[in-house]
Amino acid sequence: MRRFGHEVEVFDREGVQAEVASPLYRGGIWDKTDSAILDPGKLADGLRRAAHAQGVRIYEHSEVTAIGEGQVRTAKSVVKTDKTLLATSAYKPLLREMGRYIAPVYDYALMTEPLSEAQQQSIGWRNRQGVGDGANQFHYYRLTQDNRILFGGYDAVYRYGGPVEPQYDDYDQSFAMLSQHFFTNFPQLEGIRFTHRWGGAIDTCSRFSAFFGTAHNGRTAYATGYTGLGVAATRFGAQTALDLLDGKRTEATQSQYVRSKPLPFPPEPLRYAVIELTRRKLDKADKNEGRRGLWLKTLDKLGLGFDS
Ligand SMILES: Cc1cc2nc3c(=O)[nH]c(=O)nc-3n(C[C@H](O)[C@H](O)[C@H](O)COP(=O)(O)OP(=O)(O)OC[C@H]3O[C@@H](n4cnc5c(N)ncnc54)[C@H](O)[C@@H]3O)c2cc1C
Repeated sequence: MRRFGHEVEVFDREGVQAEVASPLYRGGIWDKTDSAILDPGKLADGLRRAAHAQGVRIYEHSEVTAIGEGQVRTAKSVVKTDKTLLATSAYKPLLREMGRYIAPVYDYALMTEPLSEAQQQSIGWRNRQGVGDGANQFHYYRLTQDNRILFGGYDAVYRYGGPVEPQYDDYDQSFAMLSQHFFTNFPQLEGIRFTHRWGGAIDTCSRFSAFFGTAHNGRTAYATGYTGLGVAATRFGAQTALDLLDGKRTEATQSQYVRSKPLPFPPEPLRYAVIELTRRKLDKADKNEGRRGLWLKTLDKLGLGFDS
């Protein structure tokens, strides 16, 4: 990371415990370059206000059911369009082509009640870093402004056929597992209560980073496939997709990264089988000091996954 210009601190067991106290930690890396934590709800609200100030009109509760060249169809009307940018994430793709590359994978998170002074002291965390563990199936956690802990990740749930429905935002099994992991991570917080829980679908693609495309003679463009890392990356993704719509030749639109697509997922029932198999193999590697078996090594060689 230093070679690529990052200011990084590397911790041994004592060093990492002095930052955040968990009996699980054996070492850590603190990346101090270009990182920040934000509340994505407030970000969305701020973006909405900024858009309104620019004269943008936002129509909520207006599901687009179909799209064609020069028009967008909702349940109640057909809207004539000059250009259309699709930023529909893991929701049902409006172009068949997008669906080949995306699988909606659910991720879940818990939020504790605010920590007492004693609880805060028991974990340290005075520098309030965003924390993630280094496993394939990783947890991420952050302190909020009012000193709650947001704890999520690990379980990545793909359901057969890839449905995205509000009923899947709640999933007892994942929350039970997360809460168990939370107390293994911070046993000194035993007894703390969780006040909130939620989940959502992640637009997962096989290269684990956004991809782009155009349709309808260049009048429609899309950016999707952020694979759970879209809060910052959507800024780049939106700009790039807008430039594609305008036919601009920029460093990004000309790059191999933007011009290429991830490897498509196979259709069902193979899609479910391949995703489940990969999840199981990742779990196995995590339980085996990270050693990757033949299946994961093959995916790595093909440039699929986080190492792509
Ligand atoms: C539990 C969870 C934790 C996450 N944690 C992180 C994290 O720590 N860091 C990070 O960088 N990213 C994280 N992500 C991912 C991040 O939230 C997404 O990558 C990002 O929000 C994607 O932004 P977007 O604008 O592409 O899509 P979204 O913010 O999902 O917006 C898509 C919008 O399109 C609308 N839409 C879809 N289809 C239609 C249609 N047919 N008609 C009309 N409207 C439609 C939807 O209603 C929605 O408003 C997390 C995601 C989840 C679910």
